[in-house]
Amino acid sequence: MIEVKNITKRYGAQKALDDVSFSVDDGEILGFLGPNGAGKSTAMNIITGYISATSGSVLIDGKDVLEQPQQTRKNMGYLPEIPPLYEDMTVKEYLYFIYDLKKCKLPKISHMKDICSLIGLNDVYGRLIKNLSKGYRQRVGFAQALVNDPKILILDEPTVGLDPKQIVEIRDLIKKLGKRHTVILSSHILPEVQAVCDRIVVINRGKIVADDTEENILAGFDDEKNIYLTAQGDKQSVLDSLEAISGVQKVTCRKAKGGNLDIVIKTAGECDIRKAVFESAASGGWAILEMHSSKPTLEEIFIRLTEQKEVG
Ligand code: ADP
Repeated sequence: MIEVKNITKRYGAQKALDDVSFSVDDGEILGFLGPNGAGKSTAMNIITGYISATSGSVLIDGKDVLEQPQQTRKNMGYLPEIPPLYEDMTVKEYLYFIYDLKKCKLPKISHMKDICSLIGLNDVYGRLIKNLSKGYRQRVGFAQALVNDPKILILDEPTVGLDPKQIVEIRDLIKKLGKRHTVILSSHILPEVQAVCDRIVVINRGKIVADDTEENILAGFDDEKNIYLTAQGDKQSVLDSLEAISGVQKVTCRKAKGGNLDIVIKTAGECDIRKAVFESAASGGWAILEMHSSKPTLEEIFIRLTEQKEVG
């Protein structure tokens, strides 16, 4: 089990992490989701013991990563955002080098073979790393994280810079690895976390703003409903007339193009304002081209959570 307890990290005057706490159970795949600059890499570096926190602690199965670095590190494999590869080595030479560096005790040849079969590296085992595609380099990064057969895998933005086919392959690989390892997957890409993770921790400006399953995060917004409206008319008078309708909480114009207005109206869950919208359009002389209602999507919730300003 990983326990992150009240971690704060300051870089000079800047607080990159502010009292961050969460835990990850054995066998879980946790998505650590947040926009760029939210503090994800800082948190990953602290969890793995690469940098220290200003205050707070990280425990791996009850052991502090800074107080017992050797015991905790041997249970962890880390794939940083930029994998530490030696380009003039072949894949085999590099993995053997990491094996020696980590003082691994497993049978070298068969263990390396197992990793390369699992990761899909057999075809390029004898090739120089500098001649590999970005997708294969990323696989080598995964392989180095697996050399010490760790219980826990920490993956920092593992699909950044990959093409769509490589992204699908790497996501499938993470799912496969999740069956044998506890995984923390840090990402700024919501669909990636949705596709792969059991639970999501959302971080924004150094603070945790959500920590739950996708289902429960959505359920937390169950009492809200959005009306999606495409209208034609003068933007300001359309928005004014919608805001005047009883039960409307917020009106946002997402796009105004070619005279068409793409509008989201946030209402209280029980309240159906569609008839009132129609009457407002009729009396205001503007047109409804399309209208439908639905609950907020996870993407909308994520945007809302990460738009909130830092408190204090
Ligand atoms: P993320 O991984 O979510 O993009 P980071 O953890 O890299 O976020 O950064 C969090 C914040 O801390 C950012 O504002 C970043 O500029 C700042 N930061 C990160 N590393 C350093 C550093 N070594 N020195 C100063 N500021 C840093």
